[in-house]
Amino acid sequence: MNSFFWYFPLSALINAATSIVLGFYLIVTNYRKPLVRYLFYFCFTAAFWSSGYFLWQISETAEAALFWSRILMFGAIFSSLSYFHLVLVFLNLEKVKIYKGILIIFYFFSIVFSITNLTPYFVSGVEPRLFFKFWPTPGPLYAPFLVLFAIHVIFASVLLLKKFIKTSNKERKMQTGLLLIGLFVAFIGGSTNYPLWYNIPIAPWGNGLVTVYVILTVYAILKYRFMDIRVVLAELFTGLMIIIFSVDVALSKNTTELIFRLFALVVMMIFGSLLVRSVRREIQRREQITELARSLEEANISLKKLDQQKTEFLSIASHQLRTPLSILNGYIELIKDGAYGKVKKQMSGVLRNMDESNSRLIALVDEFLNITRIEQGRIKYDFLKYDISEVIDQVVKEFKERALQKNIKILWNKPNRSVELFFDKEKVRHVIFNYLDNAIKYSDQGTVSIFLKDDNEGVGIKIVDTGIGFERSDEVNFFQKFYRGENVRGTNVNGTGLGLYVCSKFIEAHQGRVWARSVGLGKGSEFGFWLPYKIRT
Ligand code: ADP
Repeated sequence: MNSFFWYFPLSALINAATSIVLGFYLIVTNYRKPLVRYLFYFCFTAAFWSSGYFLWQISETAEAALFWSRILMFGAIFSSLSYFHLVLVFLNLEKVKIYKGILIIFYFFSIVFSITNLTPYFVSGVEPRLFFKFWPTPGPLYAPFLVLFAIHVIFASVLLLKKFIKTSNKERKMQTGLLLIGLFVAFIGGSTNYPLWYNIPIAPWGNGLVTVYVILTVYAILKYRFMDIRVVLAELFTGLMIIIFSVDVALSKNTTELIFRLFALVVMMIFGSLLVRSVRREIQRREQITELARSLEEANISLKKLDQQKTEFLSIASHQLRTPLSILNGYIELIKDGAYGKVKKQMSGVLRNMDESNSRLIALVDEFLNITRIEQGRIKYDFLKYDISEVIDQVVKEFKERALQKNIKILWNKPNRSVELFFDKEKVRHVIFNYLDNAIKYSDQGTVSIFLKDDNEGVGIKIVDTGIGFERSDEVNFFQKFYRGENVRGTNVNGTGLGLYVCSKFIEAHQGRVWARSVGLGKGSEFGFWLPYKIRT
């Protein structure tokens, strides 16, 4: 007998072994899932077919060969149908009326073929063909069976292909892709089984590929949740290597060879599983990172929403506060001016305190309003041409008295020429006011110097004091919202940490920049800003 001949029973044996092992695996692990039940059904028919195939191949008598070739035909009839049924369940189509109808028709014909399989109408006998001792000869119903078989395969391929093209889910696409590859491999392999029936001298060389088909199908269905091409490739590669090495072990000719090949198989299994595990772990980690990024993004969105709500609340609250405070301010002024009778001496001190506190409150509410307007993008800027030294001059005058009270000297040399540029007078005045206010607030005595310097592109203003100063690490945060420096801890100077934030936003809108510098704690500070001549629109 041709030694090649062993390929045929052996390939059938491998097919049978694979289908049986996978079938058992499904029962043990996942049988409760409906889809897996159909997968098991498919494995069962494949196992039935390949076991019959194997026993037919090794049959010694014509009777036995005929018997087993008829047995294998039961498997053949139902393997294409079980696959078709599996595809319908997989695509959630089995309950759709039309497919249900088609399925019933297919089952009807398959049962008819199964019954006729018991008669010579299906397999009429066996005879020697090519290098096979007993090859079945077709009865009149064999050709119609082939047609039904082809319909099952083509129908299943079309449905899978449609899904493959349509789905945008990456994992689902890969899953259907693998099923299609499996089907394609089965088609190439399985089709070599038929020519000899019609005396075409082609042996069923592709029979071994059926194993690949069964493995791919089971793998695609079971691994749905973890479909990444690299894991799939690593697992399939490892699986294939294990099969090859196992066959190698089975073909060992002596004990030394057996031990050696067994050792190689074990090493292969260990390295294979390590490879798969590491690829899987890496991908899992990447997925975790993606998940983390996604939840961070979500958190960020909800934080932004919260911030927006807070701004809205601040806006409403500030608006409600501003009116009564202004009214209070008006009454205090009227009382101070004697509109309600002469003010007693003791009362004037109290009135001054009231006035001061009220003004501070108004300033605070105004700052809140500024912030809410900035954040809601509601601030309007009027860029007009002014002499900025004039604005500084006015602010300095406002602070004269306060500086004097604290024994602080404001040094300001107004230039003889005008320094003109385009800016929003109210906003820039606000910034100079804040800088000067802070310089006096955070100094006990000494001097506050104001410098004005123009260059080719714009004008810089800096206010240098001899106050508490700050460390470098503090400086980066001064222009943040609600930030109060480390340097003011332990001092009794009140503040909100909002002034510089608003200033920086105003200057930003002029396309200018702000800065803060200090040599160190207790060594005075410099706060400055720069405005360009030209504002790009
Ligand atoms: P506030 O003065 O209400 O705290 P600001 O936004 O005006 O808020 O200032 C933020 C922080 O910058 C202050 O808390 C303080 O730490 C620091 N700072 C501002 N101006 C000066 C200055 N002239 N000298 C030292 N530190 C200053």
